[in-house]
Formats: sequence, structure tokens, C-alpha cells
Amino acid sequence: MSEGAAKKEERRKFQAIKGTRDILPPETALWNRVEQTAHEVFATFGFGEIRLPVIETLGLFARSLGTETDIVGKEMFLLAEREPSVVVHPGRFGPPPQSEQERRDEVERVFSEPSMRESIEQQIEESVLALRPEATASVCRAYIEHSMQQLPQPVKLYCIGPMFRRERPQKGRYRQFYQIDAEVLGGTDAPAIDAEVIEMVMTFFERLGLEGVQLDINCIGDKKCRPKYVELLRAELSKVKDKLGPDSQRRIETNPLRVLDSRLESEQKLIEAMPHIADHLCEECAENYRGVKKELELRGVKYRENWRLVRGLDYYMRTTFEITAPGLGSQNAVCGGGRYDGLMELLGGPPTKGIGFAIGEDRLILSLLETGHSPLATRHSPLLYIAWMGEKAYATAIRAAKNLRNAGFSVELPPVEQKFGKALGQADKLGARFALILGDNEVTSGQWTLKTLADGKQEKLRESDLVEHLKKQL
Ligand code: ATP
Ligand code: MG
Repeated sequence: MSEGAAKKEERRKFQAIKGTRDILPPETALWNRVEQTAHEVFATFGFGEIRLPVIETLGLFARSLGTETDIVGKEMFLLAEREPSVVVHPGRFGPPPQSEQERRDEVERVFSEPSMRESIEQQIEESVLALRPEATASVCRAYIEHSMQQLPQPVKLYCIGPMFRRERPQKGRYRQFYQIDAEVLGGTDAPAIDAEVIEMVMTFFERLGLEGVQLDINCIGDKKCRPKYVELLRAELSKVKDKLGPDSQRRIETNPLRVLDSRLESEQKLIEAMPHIADHLCEECAENYRGVKKELELRGVKYRENWRLVRGLDYYMRTTFEITAPGLGSQNAVCGGGRYDGLMELLGGPPTKGIGFAIGEDRLILSLLETGHSPLATRHSPLLYIAWMGEKAYATAIRAAKNLRNAGFSVELPPVEQKFGKALGQADKLGARFALILGDNEVTSGQWTLKTLADGKQEKLRESDLVEHLKKQL
């Protein structure tokens, strides 16, 4: 390496890539509290934790989410780990293409044959890997792979971990973000199931002390009634197509329900005038929706009906819900969920009912911080700082640190000797509550000095009394 290149190398700074970030202490203490609360609350509702890989085949998401969704169409992080085995060239077994144009012509020809296209697409979906953009598809894959339909139904699972979507990063929107996800699979689709799942999320938020959350619910019909409504909506939207923005215009064709989601000011009046799905539900869906509302009321869960709430993913049906939280600006959805009874079959499994939700953990933490939940309240600052001087005192200090830590106290033991004044200053800076002073005098007399840093009060204590004494102070 030349000297110049070496210098340049030395100066090079590595940074977290766009849309990803480091989460640092003390904020991580809040993350741990949130996750611990999820483990506790979900366990009381009978949920077990599942840990899933973050890499799956592209096909799993293409099949479950639908190729027309933004997530699969634009936002996936793909890894060409295994080369697709399909090689397209003229004559198929003949010589490789002579020119780029020749190759392109051949690709076009092969792709225009439906059966070839399907087989190639399938091979690509199986050989290309993707960083997971969400967890539901993986949970369903695992349910099928481990024949969980043989377990007592329903199977209740939750998982916590990172998801990846190539979106435009902004406040509350990242390319690597974290979700707390829960799913109820199998058994019945009785309204009580939907209501209990929603009750569980609300209980979780309540336990965290998150205030000002708003639950919106809707019913988006099923295989029988939704397609008719979607056609009606498509027809009505087509009548005003010219007045809609380009995104909505495109969605009239690809996914008209998604137009209802639009936040574009100029479209609001037009959308408000569209037919409501509630007026077009089949009797079973209407009955189910009434049941869900009644079950929520029985549980004291407050909700707002929002006819425009649709989920962006193809697999949802009937109950859908979203929860918003304060302090987040326009990215204010902290949880989205719904029923997806057809998904398991779509993935090659047995007919299985399903409902679940995903909480955006980053946004949840942001909202907690914005509404005055200090991470410092849960911060692990050392309770006790050991100020030691002298070789004999050092051995005693190590023993004291070991015993105190075993008793559950957080202890800071300085690695090198320092004057008492400096040590006490350091203890103060770290936010310690107590300093244990160990010098030659203390070691010889067996009487240790415990200083309370807030008021400077000093007490003499025997080694054997220290743990009990500290326990009483907590
Ligand atoms: P949004 O409408 O905000 O894009 P979404 O409909 O894409 O949300 P879901 O796929 O339902 O979201 O995911 C559930 C939750 O995950 C969201 O309510 C949100 O809190 C969180 N979430 C989704 N995408 C991101 C992201 N890029 N960064 C941070 N959190 C996210
Ligand atoms: Mg999104």
C-alpha cells in the first residue's frame, strides 16, 4: 500500500449504513424494560416465544404478502446467496449468446411463455434470499414445518426482533427496525379470540404506562364479500381517477383498498364519498364484526371504528386494527394487526385460522421517551462505587465486589488505584448512590466506611453486615 493510500485508510471513518442505527445505553435499558414487560404480559395470556431466522427465501414473502405490495415490490433487501439454476441463452443447450441484444431477445422470448415464466419465477423465489420484512409469514412457515396443527389449538406464539425494509428513513421509520409480533394460529375464529388479542396489546401498553393510545378497528370482509366491494370501490374510484394523485391512480388497478389509506390532502374529500365496506359485508362477516365489538366491550377495551382502516398486505381479512400513540408526528402507528385465515393455505399448509399483530418497538420507545418516560429511571447506574487504596485493600475490594454482585447489587470497582478524593469524584460522576471506602485502616480494623454520596453521611459497618444494610436502603 502506498503511503498516501495508507493515510487515507487511516482516516476512513465507518458509519452505520443509511436507515440503520446504534441503540445505546441508557436507552437500551428502556428497550429491555419494554421487552421484559412483553415477555411477562404475553405469558399471562398463554403465549410462548418463538425465535425465527432473519433470512428466508424471497418466495415466502412473495407468496404471502403479494408481489403488488410496496414491501415486496420495492422494499426488500435481497441476497443472491445461491445462483438461480435457470440459465437463459439461445438454443437452451446451444452456444451462449453472442451479444447483449441476443441475450435480451432470448430472455424476452422465454418470459413470454407463461409456463416458462412461472417456472423461472419460482426458481428465483426459491434461490434468492431475503432479509425478513415482517414476521407473520415466518411464523406460519414454522407452524407448517413443525406440524404444529398436531398440538392443542390454538397455538399462541410471539417473537421479538429486527425487520428490514428499504424505505426512505425518517423519524420513526428505519431500514432496520424492531417488532414485537404475536400470532394466534389454529382453533376457532370466534370473536373472543380477536378481542383477547387486542386486549393483550392494550394491557401491554397500559403496563408500560404509555398514555394517549388510540385503538382503531374495522372489518374488511372475507373471500366472499370483499372482492365484490373491491370491484365497486374500483369502479367508483375510476370515476374520479383524474382528480387523484399518481399513487392512488396506480392503486386503482393494483390494490384499490390501499387508496383508502391515503393521507394526501387533495384526495380526502373524494375518498370520504366512497362506499363503506360495512354496508357491503356478507351476513357472516357482519355478524362476526358485531361479535368482536361486543367482546371488546365486555373486556372494557375502548375502540373507535374506522371504515378507512385497511391493511396494506394481501392476506388480511375480517378484523383489522391499528393503534396510534402520541409524540410521533406522522409516523404514529405503533401497532398494526388483523385476521388472516387464508394465509396458511397460501403457504401450502392445512386450512388454519390466524390472527396477529406487530408492534413497532422503535416507535413505542420514541413515544415513551416523548411522553416523559426517562430511560434514566431504569438505568443501571452503579449503586456502589468501591474506593480502595493499597494492595491489601485491593484484595478486600475484589472480595467485596464479588459478594455484593452475587447479592444482586451493581458495583463499580476501579481497575487502578486512585486517591480517595479522585475516586469519590468519579463515583459522583457515574451516579453511584454509595461509596465503599477501603483503606489500610478499614482492612485492619474490619470496620468499613460506607458513604452516602447525596448527603455525604458516613457510617462504619462490619463486612458481614454490609449486604443486609444495603438491602434495607433500597
Ligand atoms: P406504516 O403505515 O407506518 O408504514 P405499516 O403498515 O408498513 O406501517 P406494518 O407492516 O403493519 O406497518 O408493521 C407494524 C408496525 O411496525 C407499524 O405499525 C410500525 O409501528 C412498525 N413499522 C413498520 N415499518 C417501520 C419502519 N420502517 N420503521 C420503524 N417501524 C416500522
Ligand atoms: Mg409501511
